[in-house]
Amino acid sequence: MGIRENLLRLEERIERAARAAGRRREDITLVAVTKTVSPERIREAYDLGIRHFGESRLQEALPKLEVLPKDIHWHFVGTLQSNKARRVAENFAVLHTLENERQLRAIAGAGTRPDALIEINIADEPQKSGLRAEDLDRFLESVLECNCVRLRGLMTVGPQVSCPEEMRPYFRKMANLLKKVPGGSWLSMGMSQDFEVAIQEGATHIRIGTALFGERDRI
Ligand SMILES: *Cc1c(COP(=O)(O)O)cnc(C)c1O
Repeated sequence: MGIRENLLRLEERIERAARAAGRRREDITLVAVTKTVSPERIREAYDLGIRHFGESRLQEALPKLEVLPKDIHWHFVGTLQSNKARRVAENFAVLHTLENERQLRAIAGAGTRPDALIEINIADEPQKSGLRAEDLDRFLESVLECNCVRLRGLMTVGPQVSCPEEMRPYFRKMANLLKKVPGGSWLSMGMSQDFEVAIQEGATHIRIGTALFGERDRI
């Protein structure tokens, strides 16, 4: 199925989930995640009206940023290695994956002040990126002190579950944690499998790859 049909279906589902939760569609930003997607297909999505795109690797993203329209809001959703954080900050509007002081020091050298979210490892999974909820207070101090980003809120990927409904308690925990972020109002959570539950629990940014562009080839 083409991107146009996928987007129509996706929009219907987003609308329905928002309405069921008593929320407005325009309070939810669709971030189209385009890792492994060619610039031509990203352009197709752009021509259908999408303006927020997410990439997870700097090296893959830079050539795309170069050839695609300049009014795109690029979101960095991958692991933010500190040795690349400065260049990411210079090229992306929103960083979804802040989690340590090394990144902050690198971003401080960028001379831009991007929007940013702190990534939370919401199920305390070993080996998973993101900050544990218990470490949020301490890291918040560092972020605010650094003053190198506009801190907007929180992001999570969440555990692999067999049914979207199993994500609900984690998403709910995220919405509660957001209250700790001074002025924080953005919650980036929900992907192709579970965005409806995420919207019901307060997601403001859903990150969608597969439901728009189809299955990715495994690398
Ligand atoms: C790939 C990716 C997505 C999109 O996942 P889908 O299941 O394809 O919708 C969302 N968030 C992050 C961080 C990703 O890496």
